[in-house]
Amino acid sequence: MEPDATVTDAVGEPDATADPLDGVWDVVVVGAGPAGSSAAHAAATQGRRVLLLDKAEHPRYKTCGGGIIGPSRDSLPPGFRIPFQDRVHAVTFALNGRFTRTRRSPRMLFGLVNRAEFDLRLVEAAVAAGAVLVTGATVTGVDQQPGEDRRTVVVTLADGRSVRARAVVGADGSASRIGRHVGVTFRQIDLGLEAEIPVPERVARAWAGRIHLDWGPLPGSYGWVFPKTETNSLTVGVISARGDGERTKRYLADYIARLGLAGFTPSVESGHLTRCRAEESPLSRGRVLVAGDAAGLLEPWTREGISYALRSGRLAGEWAVQVAEAGSPVEVRRQALNYAFAIKAGLGVEMRAGQLMLEAFERRPHLFHAAVCLVGPAWRAFAQTTQGHTTFAQVLRQHAAARRLAALASR
Ligand SMILES: Cc1cc2nc3c(=O)[nH]c(=O)nc-3n(C[C@H](O)[C@H](O)[C@H](O)COP(=O)(O)OP(=O)(O)OC[C@H]3O[C@@H](n4cnc5c(N)ncnc54)[C@H](O)[C@@H]3O)c2cc1C
Repeated sequence: MEPDATVTDAVGEPDATADPLDGVWDVVVVGAGPAGSSAAHAAATQGRRVLLLDKAEHPRYKTCGGGIIGPSRDSLPPGFRIPFQDRVHAVTFALNGRFTRTRRSPRMLFGLVNRAEFDLRLVEAAVAAGAVLVTGATVTGVDQQPGEDRRTVVVTLADGRSVRARAVVGADGSASRIGRHVGVTFRQIDLGLEAEIPVPERVARAWAGRIHLDWGPLPGSYGWVFPKTETNSLTVGVISARGDGERTKRYLADYIARLGLAGFTPSVESGHLTRCRAEESPLSRGRVLVAGDAAGLLEPWTREGISYALRSGRLAGEWAVQVAEAGSPVEVRRQALNYAFAIKAGLGVEMRAGQLMLEAFERRPHLFHAAVCLVGPAWRAFAQTTQGHTTFAQVLRQHAAARRLAALASR
């Protein structure tokens, strides 16, 4: 453990005397973002000895719009109160700054949070369920010795110390070390750029309850304004395929200027790569499972990842308990395959639909714009997807018109 590492026990009090690395843990979770906290919560509620490691101290900044759609809300631990910064009831759509149209919904579409606050509450829920949290602990690798002790995985930390576990969940984000150990591969890598812009109260009030989405000038790109009204701040971001950083940067600068926000100084400007897994990419190796961004689980079109992290994290925590209890390599493999099957049957199907949407959107963003702005059922499908009443996969399965639009746009 690094010298400044902090240990928090189930009561939430720092314990100066305990050495949290001792013994063999049932489940060690690497990374305390939404995926890791969900995994730790799921395993701890089954009464297992769970260690949750993160290199950062929470609350920590995370480049993210903080959009909490219906499936995210539905995957939170029981009793979890979302620290909403805003509740979205309206969307202003633009096509590269033109043909602007605002759509409104009497019912809330989705919520907006500050990620530092949201992630801290998730960590607290995992600790309250019994997980032991160690922060300031950077994991550098995992080792599974086939010959020596087949039941134990060794997790090494940056200071050279190690932790032993019956099962490991890698939830260490999009540049995951554990993902590399497992051999995760990607079919899509995008660059997201964001600015947190504190604004005067009157400007914040003008944005309250409304987001802005701009279908961008680069293929597959879009921009967003997500208001954080409680703290008089706007999160403005853009995302585009990796490889043209300069144009992506220019898109963000132009977007901010077009919105009349260039006069305000951002408090944070950051960038982050998002990665979507290849269809054949593994979700486990031996006693190690991966979840969330570490597994490349992300919606390919919108690049929404919190619900993917929460959902896959919970499944990984549940199946990690089974892996921990497995006594033979055959049984380990069976339980790990069960995890992969659960992911592929749910999130895998949604990712395939998202890929189709992205391919069509890359070619004909104007068709998408016209549809959400002018066609009632298309707007309702968009709204209901954000609310969690349906999914893109269901929309494509159930509505011939949506399939025709996607096919037309893909040509
Ligand atoms: C610009 C941008 C905007 C986005 N906006 C949205 C949005 O509005 N809504 C949405 O749903 N999704 C959004 N996403 C995606 C979302 O942020 C991610 O999908 C989500 O954070 C994934 O959660 P996670 O738990 O898998 O990983 P993370 O949230 O990245 O958490 C990983 C954790 O692992 C820790 N860690 C990393 N390496 C190590 C290590 N070696 N040892 C120990 N700990 C380690 C980190 O400190 C971190 O706490 C956005 C992404 C980007 C880039």
